[in-house]
Amino acid sequence: MITKNGLIIGVTELEDKGRYLRVLTADGVHEVYVRGAKKITSKNNAGTEIFCFSKLCATPGKNGLVLDSSEPARQFYNLRFDIKKLALANYFAEVIIHNGIGIDSDEKKGETLNLFLLCLHYLDAGNRETALIKSVFELRYACEIGFMPRLIGCDVCHKYDEGLTFILQSGKLLCAEHLRENKGYPLSPAVLHAIRFVCLSELKKICDFKLSNEAERELAVISENYLTCHTEKHLKSLSYYNRLS
Ligand SMILES: [Zn+2]
Repeated sequence: MITKNGLIIGVTELEDKGRYLRVLTADGVHEVYVRGAKKITSKNNAGTEIFCFSKLCATPGKNGLVLDSSEPARQFYNLRFDIKKLALANYFAEVIIHNGIGIDSDEKKGETLNLFLLCLHYLDAGNRETALIKSVFELRYACEIGFMPRLIGCDVCHKYDEGLTFILQSGKLLCAEHLRENKGYPLSPAVLHAIRFVCLSELKKICDFKLSNEAERELAVISENYLTCHTEKHLKSLSYYNRLS
C-alpha cells in the first residue's frame, strides 16, 4: 500500500458511481481510481472532492492506483461559493496536468504542490486580490518548470532598474540601448520589483506585496503571456476564467 499527502486537482465522476482522480503530490501527478465514491455511505466522499488536500492510501492495481482510504486534511470551503476563484483554481490544475511539476531535484521537491496550496490558501482566505494570485502562480510556476527569467538587469550591460524591457521568449531584460527589436514589455519599476520578488523570494512570502491597480494589470498581462509563451498550450480553463473577469 502507498500512502501520500495529495491535493485533488481533477475529478471525473464515473457511471459505476466510482470516481477517477488526479492527485498532485510532492513527486508528481498521480491517477487514482475510487470505488463507489458517490455512494452516500462511502467513507471516501469528503477526502476525494476537488481541491481537498488529503492523506490518501492506495494500492497499485491492474490499471493504476486504487484508493483504499482517504482522510481530508485541508478543505478550501470558500472556493465553492465563488465561481471566479473556482475557475482560477481549475486553470492552475489544468496547467499542472498538462505541464507537470518541473525540475525533479530534492531541493525543489514539493514546490509545485506547496505553490498550489499557498494560492488556494489565499483564494480561500480572500485577503489577496484574485488577479494578483493568478500572476504570482503563473510566474512562480514558470520558474518551477525551468523558465526562470534572467532578472539581474539588462542582459548586455547589467543596467539594473529603470527603462528595462522584458522579452518573453528569452526571459531576458534589455535596456533601451540594447533592445534590438520592438517587441517585449517595457517594465515600470514597481512591476520589475514585483517580478523579482515573486521569482526569487522564499515560497511562503511570494504573495506578500502590494501593487497599484495599474501595475497589477501590467503584471497580469506579462505573467499570463510569459507562462503561455513557454507552455504553448491553449487551455479552455484560462479562456473561461478570462471570460469571467
Ligand atoms: Zn543594456
